[in-house]
Amino acid sequence: MLESGSRHHVFNLLGIPVFVDLSAVFLLIIIYQWVQQYSPMEKVVFILVALGSILLHELGHAMMSRLVRMRGIEITIVAMGGTCSYREGAATPAKSFAISASGPLVNFALAATAWALMHYEILTTDIGVATCLFTFWINLSLGILNSVPMFPLDGGQATLAGITWLTGKERLSRTITLYLALGIGALGIAFFYTHGPDYYMIFLLIVLLFNSIMVLGRN
Ligand SMILES: [Zn+2]
Repeated sequence: MLESGSRHHVFNLLGIPVFVDLSAVFLLIIIYQWVQQYSPMEKVVFILVALGSILLHELGHAMMSRLVRMRGIEITIVAMGGTCSYREGAATPAKSFAISASGPLVNFALAATAWALMHYEILTTDIGVATCLFTFWINLSLGILNSVPMFPLDGGQATLAGITWLTGKERLSRTITLYLALGIGALGIAFFYTHGPDYYMIFLLIVLLFNSIMVLGRN
């Protein structure tokens, strides 16, 4: 997906090479600004949970890619979070659906685990509760945001691949996914205009709308 000369190989995770792109500086700036409201202990926990959750999301894509026999799998940490790509392998609609869906599924599983650890009072120390709370909210947010059926989000790719898998008609699937993205985008902009207005979310939705039209609009 995102390929640039500004990335560096930092380590391997379960045999998958992990790169950090220079643009990841923006991700650190966003996280740094967000944690200003927290205590020193919460700052450390939040940063570790946020970076760990992004990495585990990408690892979900990577493990599913490996399971469906893709090769040359790589994870890159970028400004928007991360991307997972592969260089070789035949991506059928069913495989693409499974690969796209597995990232958000990891986040929902982590959120559910954190919720259970809090609900059943398994972790009761200050640091344990902080870890669970941040794990719950960060992963619920990442899971929901990435599931939105717009491009280049996982939700958009999973929707397109899923409908193509079901109908066997690629062009029809692009049209359905495009109208879905336009509808969600318009509703989202209307929502964030009346509730706020939240110009950051409106800007994000405009970028996603533009991207969806670029990817799905061409024949
Ligand atoms: Zn993803």
